[in-house]
Amino acid sequence: MEQLVICKRCGSNACLEQQISEEVTTQFCMGCGFTTSTLMTEGSDVVKSALDTSPELYKDLMHKDTQGNIWMPSTITLPNKGMVFVDGTNKGSWEWQLLKLFLYRKETRRCLTIRLIRWI
Ligand SMILES: [Zn+2]
Repeated sequence: MEQLVICKRCGSNACLEQQISEEVTTQFCMGCGFTTSTLMTEGSDVVKSALDTSPELYKDLMHKDTQGNIWMPSTITLPNKGMVFVDGTNKGSWEWQLLKLFLYRKETRRCLTIRLIRWI
C-alpha cells in the first residue's frame, strides 16, 4: 500500500509512504528528497550501517524527526539515464546534482560519456 502523506522533515504534502511489510514502512519525500523508514531509528543497525558507509555530507544532513526516525538524502539511480544525489562540502553548503548519462555509438565502437548537470 502506498499513499501521499505530510513529510515529517520539511512539511511537504508530497511524501510517498509505502508499506513494505507488516513491520516496515518507508517514506520518500518528493519535496525535500530525503527518505526514512521505520527501521531508521537512532542507534539501529540500518542507521549504523548508513553511518559506516555514507559520505560525510550525508551524515551531516541526517535529520531526526519528532517520532525519532532518521532521514537521509536519497540517491536515485535512473537506469540508462543517470542519477540524482547531493553534493557539497557541509550541511550549510550543498545542492542536488544530476549526473546525466549519455550513450552513443561512434563508428564501430561504443562510447560512454557522462556529464554533470546542476540540478535546478
Ligand atoms: Zn520532505
